[in-house]
Amino acid sequence: MSSIIPTHQGRAAEKILFSITGGKDKVFISNTLFDTTRANIEFSGSSGIDMICVEGKKPSIPAPFKGNLDTGVLKDYIAKNGTEQIAMVLLTVTNNSGGGQPVSMQNIRDTKNICSLYNIPLYIDACRFAENAYFIKLREKGYEDKSIIEIANEMFSYADGCTMSAKKDAFANIGGFLALKDDDLAVKCRNLLIITEGFPTYGGLAGRDLEAIAIGLYEVMDEHYLQYRIRSIEYITQKLDAAGVPVMLPAGGHAVYLDAKEFLPTIPVNQYPGQALVCALYKKGGIRCVEIGSLMFGRYDHNHKLVPAALELVRLAIPRRVYTQSHIDYVAEVIIEVFNERDQISGLRIVEEPPVLRHFTARLEEY
Ligand SMILES: *Cc1c(COP(=O)(O)O)cnc(C)c1O
Repeated sequence: MSSIIPTHQGRAAEKILFSITGGKDKVFISNTLFDTTRANIEFSGSSGIDMICVEGKKPSIPAPFKGNLDTGVLKDYIAKNGTEQIAMVLLTVTNNSGGGQPVSMQNIRDTKNICSLYNIPLYIDACRFAENAYFIKLREKGYEDKSIIEIANEMFSYADGCTMSAKKDAFANIGGFLALKDDDLAVKCRNLLIITEGFPTYGGLAGRDLEAIAIGLYEVMDEHYLQYRIRSIEYITQKLDAAGVPVMLPAGGHAVYLDAKEFLPTIPVNQYPGQALVCALYKKGGIRCVEIGSLMFGRYDHNHKLVPAALELVRLAIPRRVYTQSHIDYVAEVIIEVFNERDQISGLRIVEEPPVLRHFTARLEEY
């Protein structure tokens, strides 16, 4: 990438990039857009379309690359609608809102080929690029003997740019950046950065944070670290699976995802089973997790009827280098206890909600 533009968080990089590339009637296509990403796209007047592969929609059925974009759906969309309105294709690696599942190199390459054919820019939401690269090494033929940095370099070689949250695969407490190959676009982004974030040399960050990011980006590619990281997510996922708790399989990169639809089959989606489960886990064991379902991604139709999200997941994101095995065992035990008492959990109704990103500040009550 020829331009690296630091920002105070990933969403600030999104805001700057989409303010310039988005706007009224534009469309952003993704495997799955993260919540702040979708909100920034919609805030610019554009819309977002998720084209996750078929395997990605089936939580209980394992597959190696459930984060892949469905390139057949992308081709059909282009054949039907043309490309003029498409601002970009944005691949989220790993796919945070879809279970932390990886995207294969083949899928990145295939997506790039379609984009090149029609002159559509391809961007990467790179928050977990190292975890994604590690999954490619483990699961994709031809990459067994490559280093993580070689794999990451190949992933980014197909992209016109990326947005990054340094709080994820850069080990930093704060920060992010926008990386671009297009120099003209970079000039526009820097000008907007100066109004909203800070000067292009620091983008709202302190010097120590910039240094932490520079080191963290290398440290996160250490294979011993990645092995421990991926294995610890797998450990909790397997423990829950063995106890009959419905989880997203296989284990993702950074989190264990509970399938709330299966966990609470008697609570209908318009009573937000994911959020009901989030509250139950907090009440039982003080465990904080997040709903990734119809509270986060649901929409209302013309009659104010809920159009539910594709999946009702609950994500327990595991902080890097924080927990020991006994912490994780405690979390698993609480989840299993709540699972055994799941009949006592009731659905929720919204009593107050803001117009965008409602899941952050909405108020709900039990039925
Ligand atoms: C966290 C995250 C973001 C937003 O980054 P922030 O630093 O929290 O603003 C964007 N995309 C994905 C996939 C993320 O996980």
